[in-house]
This record gives sequence, C-alpha cells and structure tokens, in this order.
Amino acid sequence: MRVAMIGAGYVGLVSGACFADFGHMVTCVDKDAGKIARLKDGGMPIYEPGLDLLVAQNVRAGRLDFTTDAASAVRQADAVFIAVGTPSRRGDGHADLSYVYAAAEEIAQVMDGFTVIVTKSTVPVGTGDEIEAIVRRVRPAAQFAVVSNPEFLREGAAIEDFKRPDRVVVGTEDERARAVMTELYRPLYLNETPIVFTDRRTSELIKYAANGFLALKITFINEMADLCEAVGADVQQVARGIGLDKRIGNKFLHAGPGFGGSCFPKDTLALARTARDAASPVTLIETTIAVNDARKTAMALRIVDALGGEPAGKTVGVLGLTFKPNTDDMRDAPSLAIIPALQALGAHVQAFDPEGATEARQLLRDVALKDDPYGAAEGADVLVIITEWDQFRALDLDRIKLLMNRPALVDLRNIYKPADMRARGFDYSSVGRA
Ligand code: NAD
Repeated sequence: MRVAMIGAGYVGLVSGACFADFGHMVTCVDKDAGKIARLKDGGMPIYEPGLDLLVAQNVRAGRLDFTTDAASAVRQADAVFIAVGTPSRRGDGHADLSYVYAAAEEIAQVMDGFTVIVTKSTVPVGTGDEIEAIVRRVRPAAQFAVVSNPEFLREGAAIEDFKRPDRVVVGTEDERARAVMTELYRPLYLNETPIVFTDRRTSELIKYAANGFLALKITFINEMADLCEAVGADVQQVARGIGLDKRIGNKFLHAGPGFGGSCFPKDTLALARTARDAASPVTLIETTIAVNDARKTAMALRIVDALGGEPAGKTVGVLGLTFKPNTDDMRDAPSLAIIPALQALGAHVQAFDPEGATEARQLLRDVALKDDPYGAAEGADVLVIITEWDQFRALDLDRIKLLMNRPALVDLRNIYKPADMRARGFDYSSVGRA
C-alpha cells in the first residue's frame, strides 16, 4: 500500500516509520521545512528511543521518504493519514481543528482516484463528518472515504506501542475503506491484535474516553497519596494492594506531581467541552482537570516547605523537566507550572534534563540548565526530582550531599526509599508516604 502521512511529529513520524517497517511505501509530509530537511539528512527532529534506527533502516530500504510537497505524496497514496496537532484552543478548551481542516483541504485539492483519508490526530466527535464535508465541497466528484483511526502510542515507548498495541480502533462504515485499513494493519492481525471496527463517531469518542479514564486514574491515586499523608499510610502499598485486583489493574497508579504532556491536559479539556456542548457534562472529567491543576501549585508549596517556608534567594535544583522520561517533549510538563511558581516567590532554579534542554530553553525563563544531575545539585538548598529518568535512580548520593548547600530532597516520583534517604542524612520528602 502507498501511504501519505500528513504531519511528521511525534505521532506522524513514528506511525510513518512503523507502517514502512510493515512493508508499505510511506511518504511523510510536513510543512516545517527545517524538520523535513533534517530528516532527509538522516537527523531526528525529536527524541524517541529507537526511532532513528527504524527511520534509517526504512529509508535505506526505499520504503520511507520525506517531503514538504503534499501534492506528490497524496496523489499516489491509497491512504492519507492526518497526523497534525490538535492543541487546545485558547479560551474555551476546545480542540483547535484548524490544522486538521487545513490538511483536509490540501488533500482534497490533489487526491487522485479512490482515497482513504484517515484521522490519526485526536479529534472530537463529528470531526470526520466535517472533514467529509470539506472534501466534498472542494472536490464534489471525488471518490473517497474518511476513517477515524485514533492513536494510543505513548511517547518514550512509541515504536513498541505502535507495533504491539493492545488494540487498533478503526471507525468506518465504508467497505472499501475497511479493506484498505485491514491491509495496512495486516501484520498486526498476524499477531492477533484485536482490531475494533466501529462507526466513525464512536471511534472518535473512544480515544477521548481512554485518555479521560487514564487521567482520572492518575488523579485518583494522587488524591489517595494526599490522604495517605494525612492518615499515615503508604500510597505505594495502596496502589499495589488495589492494582493486583484485575478489575483495577496496576498501570497508571503511580502517585506524582499531576499529569501533563501533549495529550491528557488538552484531551480532558476537549472532552469536557464536547460533553458540555452536547448538554451531557462529564463532571468526573471536569473535576479531574481541576484537581490536577491544583496539584501543580500544591507541589510548588511542598518545595517551599522543604525550604523552611522561605524560598526567596534560595537555590532549587531540579532533576527532570520533560513531562515524562524518554522523550524531549515539554508540552504541559509539570515543571512548566512548578518552576515559575518557585521563581515568582524569589527562588533561583537550576536544572538538568537528559533530553529536554533544547525545548526547555524556549519555555522556561531564567533557569540555569546544567550538564548533569550534579551540576543541578551544586549549591542547592533543595533538590527536586520532577521527572523519573532512569539515570536519576542511581545517583551518587554522597556526592550530591557534599555538593548541596543543604541536603534536602523532594522526590515527586517516589524513586527513593524514605528510610534509606534519612539514614544517609537527607531531609527527604516524597509523595503519599510517611
Ligand atoms: P506534533 O506537533 O509533534 O506534530 C504535528 C506536525 O504536523 C508538526 O510537525 C507540524 O509541522 C505538522 N503539520 C501541521 N499542519 C500540517 C499540514 N497542513 N501539512 C503538513 N504538516 C503539518 O504533534 P503530535 O504529538 O504528533 O500529535 C499529533 C496528533 O496526534 C494530535 O492530535 C495528538 O493529540 C495525537 N496524539 C499524540 C500522541 C503523542 O503522544 N504525542 C499520542 C496519541 C495521539
């Protein structure tokens, strides 16, 4: 099959490379000429483990290429995927669909022969109908079908998630489109991956329902963490004790500084908006959003407490800036709320992140970015772990202690044990543990 992937970001590039690896001929299209030039040169515009190798192999095999010219790629394609961004619209929280609709227009102008247009972007219910109307308006006689195929990959484990997903969801009632989608995902059929065929609107909602539920699950355990602190219980034991129940499951039960990232914040907002517009509010999700927002402030105050309540003039060392490990993605990362809150109270912040520095430079002001964790600890009055990169799990704590102005560690990811840390002489606090 010939595939055109419109948008070569975290989702488009991974999906494109994986489809190529399945044996399809894929062209990734992006408007960002710098991104395409970099890919053509063998470079990577994002950090995602294993992606550089996968891209290089498939480019070498002649199955994957990159262009800024949508026309040539779309004209030849059996399936054109839309994998452009759908950020929150300013003001009302609705998904901003302008990139999606612009892509739909561009596709309509140049597509040739029966074409399956697939939305991989996360889009609210009814967006497929709108894309269909746009294409119909631009090309009244065109032969096409619009399919919803939401993506569930996680940054940091994106290739594995794409190639071995728990399920694939395909929303279409068009038989020809169904045949094309079946062929595209054939390698997964061989692995017995469940493929959920459904109607388009249901498929669109499945993606938001999944992210809404996961965001709610994280927020639930975060509230349990607060309760554990108040009553003298241990949230990690609570998570284990409930997670072993198969009805609950042990994933997404890690207490921390609140969810962030490129999906949950904007998708929960858009879900709440869609539900309000449909006069069927999802109050659980609205509450989840509010509780999660409040948590970021609460985390900053926890750091202030570790500074004896007097942050002005003190130095805070931060380990981890990205919204999770193994990505360079900083979108809506908890660090972006916590660090400015500390700075507003007069603290100086110095930080280290293994992959996030380039992005962080654009998004954070007056943060001294260091080359390693020890640089972030040097002279600090408190060291805060915001993102649980593996390399923070085995720090030379004696060295850290010597480097710091005062040995205080706020571990917002619970990667160290309270008793160990106290035995080493740290003033240690974590989340949901005595
Ligand atoms: P991204 O910002 O990394 O990438 C989007 C890309 O699309 C950018 O490179 C941009 O230049 C390009 N683009 C925009 N309009 C274009 C056009 N008309 N033609 C060509 N290129 C165009 O975004 P992302 O993180 O890959 O997310 C894409 C979609 O996938 C979003 O809807 C998101 O919600 C969804 N999603 C993301 C993830 C994730 O982990 N990042 C997971 C599942 C779903």
